Amino acid sequence: MGAVKKIKQYCLALLALLLIAAGIFAVYIKKNETSKIDVAKVRLQVNQYQQQVRKALSGETAKESLLKETKELPFLKEVMVIGLDGTVVFSDGEAPYKQGEQYPLDELSGVEKEQVVNGVYSYRAPIVIEGKMTEVLLLTVETKEFRSSNKEEKMYFLAVMLLFLVIAFLLLYEQYRLKKDLFEPVEYLHEATRQILNGTYDKPLHYSYSDEIGSLCKDFEYMRSELEKSNREQERMATKEKELLACISHDLKTPLSGILGYVEGIGNGIVTSKEDIKGYCDIIIRKVKLQEKLIDDILEETKTELNQMTFEMETVYSKEFFDSAVEEMSLEVREKHMSLTVEPFPQYLITIDRKRMMQVLYNLINNAVKYSNEKGTIHIRSFLNEQASPKELVITVEDNGKGISAVDLPFIFDKFYRGEKARTQDIPGSGLGLNIAKYIIEKHGGHMECDSILGEGTTMMFSIPLK
Ligand code: ADP
Repeated sequence: MGAVKKIKQYCLALLALLLIAAGIFAVYIKKNETSKIDVAKVRLQVNQYQQQVRKALSGETAKESLLKETKELPFLKEVMVIGLDGTVVFSDGEAPYKQGEQYPLDELSGVEKEQVVNGVYSYRAPIVIEGKMTEVLLLTVETKEFRSSNKEEKMYFLAVMLLFLVIAFLLLYEQYRLKKDLFEPVEYLHEATRQILNGTYDKPLHYSYSDEIGSLCKDFEYMRSELEKSNREQERMATKEKELLACISHDLKTPLSGILGYVEGIGNGIVTSKEDIKGYCDIIIRKVKLQEKLIDDILEETKTELNQMTFEMETVYSKEFFDSAVEEMSLEVREKHMSLTVEPFPQYLITIDRKRMMQVLYNLINNAVKYSNEKGTIHIRSFLNEQASPKELVITVEDNGKGISAVDLPFIFDKFYRGEKARTQDIPGSGLGLNIAKYIIEKHGGHMECDSILGEGTTMMFSIPLK
């Protein structure tokens, strides 16, 4: 049985118990009512009436006036005046014996008697005229109107009944509130959880609770939006990886077909002159190098993924290291008829993996070449950032090439991410270079950033902390 049903049944049971208790209380009050008759008041009335009877019987007043008198006292239920021989001298109301009838004398044992039974007051007293008992007066009184003290009791009774009613109302209200504040949101959360389990993450939870349930809903909503984000990210990555696979296949296949064509040309004797054969070989070498770079990138990325890239750290002088590294790469830049300007590197002791740092610099210069037009310029600068703690050596590689759109910029360090221009203009690449470069720089304790304006150029920047 569900919790809602249980609580509902519990509340209903409590309500039933309350009603039973109220019933028992009402019966109890009703029963006790009779004993609370104001007997003194009854007595006073009865004594006055008794005097009237005495006066009528002694001839002080007319007998007819007694009947009138009796009729005027509605609380008198039965009235009988019985002679000493048992003859009913006067009878009125619901009296069982009428005037002139014979009253069983044995029922008159003991003359004076007063009692209250079931709310009815009965009275029996002798009528004494001139010192002699002449008749016996028998009467019963309906005591309803002599229950003046019951007013207080009624108030008490009403107050208790009102209390019962208030408790019953509170019970019902509590049941309603429990349903509204607890069970409905729980059911709502349950439904939302089921949706998440079924893989629907994009339905936000709408709630207006501000209590504990509200903060539970808030946490739930936070969890849902995080799941939604990570799900979207997973979907995005899955699409990217598929795209990459298609790209890599294309990038691997295209040069291969070219290489095959050139080798066949040489093999079939179509190309005979020494110069042509050399030209073909140069193209083949370039294409093979591209293939090699692509395969290297994929292998390196696998290593970063598995955190298996090894670093052989050495402490070197920055000026010597960067001067020779840039020198090595300058050939490639010049080959593309681009100009490379380098501001003098400052001299600091830096702890780096030479090979990996070369790889980073090569990637940045290579990208600047790849994404620039012929005769573009590449400018390398370096400076000490004294604000950082520890101080760091900052290197920037600036080009005036194609630039990166604002849409692509936040993602260029993501693995497999290739900018729109790289994809559409068939520029070879894997979208892994910057991801690997950033990984290497971060492993050195530094950081890497990019600033770019589409159509104006790009500035790539990385830092190396000085220890
Ligand atoms: P890729 O193999 O595609 O060059 P990278 O990780 O090196 O992969 O670069 C990611 C993307 O960043 C590139 O596809 C390109 O869109 C953009 N990019 C990187 N460097 C530059 C640059 N100097 N100028 C313009 N775009 C760049």
